[in-house]
This record gives sequence, structure tokens and C-alpha cells, in this order.
Amino acid sequence: MADEDGSKTHPKKQEIVRLERTDRPAPEISLHGLPEFLPGWVWLTGAGPGDPGLLTLHAVNALQQADCVVYDALVSEDILSLTRTEAELVYSGKRGGKPSLRQEDISRQLVSLAQEKKRVLRLKGGDPFVFGRGGEEAQVLVQAQIPFRLIPGISAGVGGLGYAGIPVTHREVNHAVTFVTGHLAGKDAPELLDWGAIAKATPVIVIYMGMSRLEAIADLLMEAGRDRGEKIAIVTQATMPEQRVVTGTLGSAAALAAKHNLQPPSIIVIGDVVDLHGELSWFGTAFEG
Ligand code: SAH
Repeated sequence: MADEDGSKTHPKKQEIVRLERTDRPAPEISLHGLPEFLPGWVWLTGAGPGDPGLLTLHAVNALQQADCVVYDALVSEDILSLTRTEAELVYSGKRGGKPSLRQEDISRQLVSLAQEKKRVLRLKGGDPFVFGRGGEEAQVLVQAQIPFRLIPGISAGVGGLGYAGIPVTHREVNHAVTFVTGHLAGKDAPELLDWGAIAKATPVIVIYMGMSRLEAIADLLMEAGRDRGEKIAIVTQATMPEQRVVTGTLGSAAALAAKHNLQPPSIIVIGDVVDLHGELSWFGTAFEG
């Protein structure tokens, strides 16, 4: 099974890996008026949930100018293929069950590449500031006096659900939504989230990195009063050709994931907005129960 960040398609080495580039023509997209990427800068950039069409123009502009791209596991090959042939590609994600590279090592590497006067593109899945440690990397850059730009991306918890025909808010259904990370839920470590408060306060809950803790999270929410029959959807590989959407109930959540062999990266949504999936589904494959 892949890690929560979907690292299974990437090299299984602990070190920072430099990819060999193949020769191919630079893509031709005119981006007049967008900023020039100056040497010595780091652009912290969101790549969106996977579909290259969801890149922002700023992200494409960055890909076309970067000397060096330090990318995470969730960034697809199609997106990396928009870089210049000469650009150096450095993989910094998790590999096959092993822990991630230490965050300090990644941050230190960004600093040293910038000090070499490279144009450094730090490319992350979704939005860098949403469960992406982008803020921590930006802090290190500030401390090292490296100039940086932040290029937001479409986050999986919004755009990924949109590709499943699930609006995160819908006027007659919810006026609030909560985004949580599930990866520490229910472990022996002290609980980082007040699941009882979340269960009561918010009609719709969107969970990132929740697959390995799905059963524990569902239990915590039901203990806090959420209904066993409440709707849940799990969207795997959102926005990609392999996208799958499985819907069911909170009480059956863990069984659903097992039955359909759902792997990360998957985004989970709980609440009545899931009902809209039946009506608004427009992309990928859907399964019920
Ligand atoms: N910064 C990212 C989130 C990184 S945390 C963002 O804004 O989207 C990694 C988690 O994001 C995964 O475990 C999964 O829950 C979710 N995720 C990212 N891309 C996804 C995709 N294409 N499909 C489903 N979930 C995705």
C-alpha cells in the first residue's frame, strides 16, 4: 500500500533523488506579463491535485523558467514534463513506507540551491499552505534571507471533491466546512484535534491523509454523536484519469475502503453534500456501498 502522500510511483531510496531528463521540446505557452523568475529566488508553488489543467498560469510560468524543481510525491509526471529540458528535477517525497526526508533537510536544500543562484521551484501537490508544510519552508527561507514567492494551488479538499461532483458548500446543506488532517487520529499520542467539537460544530468534514486512520476517525465522530448512517465519500486519485469515488455511510467507512481496496491519495468527505454526488457527478468512476 502506498503512503498517505501517494508515493508508490516514486523511487524507493532514502536520499534526495535526481531524475534523468529526456530530450524534448520546451512547451510553448505564451505567458506575457507574468513575473520573471530571478536567480536566487525560491517559488513555493502548488501543483494542484493532479490534472495538469488545474495548474495556475503562475505555476506554468514557474515551470517554464525554473533551473531546479524540488518536487513532492503527489506531483505527476505530466506536470513535471512542463519544465525546461535543462531543468534539474529533485524528488523530495516519501518513499515506499519509509519516513519522509527530514523537513529540515528539504528546507536546507532549498536554501543552498538558492544560494547557488538557481531559480528554485519548490513544487507541492495541491496548495503549499494546506497540510503541505509550505509555511515551515517559507519560514526557513525568511530566516536565511532567501527571497521567495508563494503560488497557491487548488487543494484536493476543494478541487478534488469538485471533480467528484461534491461541492464543499451548498446553500441548502451547509454554511461551514472543516478541513482536518487524519494522519494522527486515534493513535496513542495525545489527540491533536477535538473530534467532539468538530463533530458538533461542522456539518461537513473534509479529511486529508485519513485513509490509514479511517476506522478510528469514524469511531471518534460516531462517539461524538454523528449518525452511523451519515453519508461519506472517498475520492481516490482525484482529478486524475484513475479517479474513483466510493460513497457509503460513516458506519461502513472502513469496510468500504477495504472492499474497494482504496489507496492513498484519497480525500474523505463526511456530510450531506455527499448526496449531490449522484446528481452532479461528471468525471471518473463512481461506486456505491
Ligand atoms: N497540500 C495538499 C495536501 C497534502 S496532504 C493539498 O492542498 O491538496 C496529502 C493528502 O492530500 C493525501 O493524503 C490526500 O488526502 C490528499 N490528496 C492530495 N492529492 C489528492 C488527490 N489527487 N486525490 C485524493 N486526495 C488527494
